[in-house]
Amino acid sequence: MTATENPYLLLTPGPLSTSRTVRESMLRDWCTWDDDYNRNVVERVRDKLVSLATTDAGYTAVLMQGSGTASVEATIGTIIGNQDRLLVIDNGVYGARMAEIARYLNIDVQVLSYRETELPAVDDIDGALQTDSGITHVAMVHCETTTGMLNPLEAVAGVVKKHNRLLIIDAMSSFGGIPLDMGMLGIDYLISSANKCIQGVPGFGLVIAREHLLAKCAHQARSLSLDLYAQWRCMEDHHGKWRFTSPTHTVRAFYQALEELHQEGGVAARYQRYQNNQKLLVQGMEELGFECLLPHEMHSPFITSFRSPQHPEYQFDRFYQLLKQQGFVIYPGKVSDADCFRIGNIGEVYPQDIAALVQAIASSMYWEQ
Ligand SMILES: *Cc1c(COP(=O)(O)O)cnc(C)c1O
Repeated sequence: MTATENPYLLLTPGPLSTSRTVRESMLRDWCTWDDDYNRNVVERVRDKLVSLATTDAGYTAVLMQGSGTASVEATIGTIIGNQDRLLVIDNGVYGARMAEIARYLNIDVQVLSYRETELPAVDDIDGALQTDSGITHVAMVHCETTTGMLNPLEAVAGVVKKHNRLLIIDAMSSFGGIPLDMGMLGIDYLISSANKCIQGVPGFGLVIAREHLLAKCAHQARSLSLDLYAQWRCMEDHHGKWRFTSPTHTVRAFYQALEELHQEGGVAARYQRYQNNQKLLVQGMEELGFECLLPHEMHSPFITSFRSPQHPEYQFDRFYQLLKQQGFVIYPGKVSDADCFRIGNIGEVYPQDIAALVQAIASSMYWEQ
C-alpha cells in the first residue's frame, strides 16, 4: 500500500474518503501573499462557490479557518447586532449547537425545540415570527446530520421571507450534494465546510452571504479571529488574502475537489450518485433485517441512521471492528433517545462500494449466528 492509498473507506459524515487526485494536489507548498495562491486558487474557489450556490449576482463567499463550527460561530457572532434577536430551530445536535453558540456570545436567542426524529413545523415558525417582531434572524440546519433528516428548507425559507427576516442555513452536510439556489429560496447566509459534499479535506469552512448585508457588519464581531466581516474585507481588498495564516494545502485540495465536482457533472450528478448510494444502502440493510430510525420520506441522501439490533449479544464496537477489518468505517449514533448507528454515503463512494458494504455487514452479524 502506498501513502496515497486508504486502508478503509470512510462511511462517515466527514471528513470523508477523498479521491487520490484531491490528496495528491497537496504535494506542494504555497506562499500566502503570492498571486499563484491568492488570485489563482483562493479567488477562484470563492467565485466557484458563489456560482454553485446561486445564479443571483448579489452574493459573495468568505472562507474561514477551522472546522465547520468555527464558520457557524463566525457567522452568528458577526452578523447579529446587539439589538437583534435570533430564533434557532433545533431538532438535533447541530441546531442545538447554534443556540449554544448564541448563548456563549451573549446573543439574544430563542429556540424552537423538536425531538430529533421530528420535523420542524412551519406553522410554529410562522407563529413565532408573527408574535415576536423583535426576532431579526432565523437559523436552521438543512440536513440534520444527527439523524440524517432533511429539514423542510423551502417551506421554512418561504415563511421567513414572508415575515421579512434574515435566514441563516447550516448546510454543512448538504451543500454541493443537493441542488439549491440561495437567491431563489431567499437564504441570506449559508454555511458549509471543505470536508463534506464537495469532498475536500478538513481545515476550513465557507460562508456564502448576501453581499450588501455582510457589508453592513463592520465592528460587530464578538471575536477577533472569527470576524467574518473583517475576513471578507481582507479577501476583497487583497485579492483572496486571508487575515491570518491560511490552510494553503487544504484550500488547494478544495480547488481540485471543485474541479472534480464539475467533471462529475455538477451538483445534480453528485446528488444522483448520493441518492443511488443511499437507496441501495437502505434496501440492502432492510433486507438484512435492519430498521431505519426515520421514515424513508424524511431521509437525506447523505447519511442514514439505523436502529441497533435488539439482541443481547450485539455490541456496536465489535460490529464496528469487524467492518473495519473488511475495509469499511461506519459511525456511532448521536440520537439521545434512540439506540442507533449511522452510515454515511458521501465522499468517493459509489454504488459498488455500498453493495460490498452490505455484503460485509451480512457477514458481520455475529449475534445472529
Ligand atoms: C459537520 C457538521 C457541522 C460542523 O462540524 P465540525 O465538526 O465543526 O466540522 C455543523 N453542522 C452540521 C449539520 C454538520 O453536519
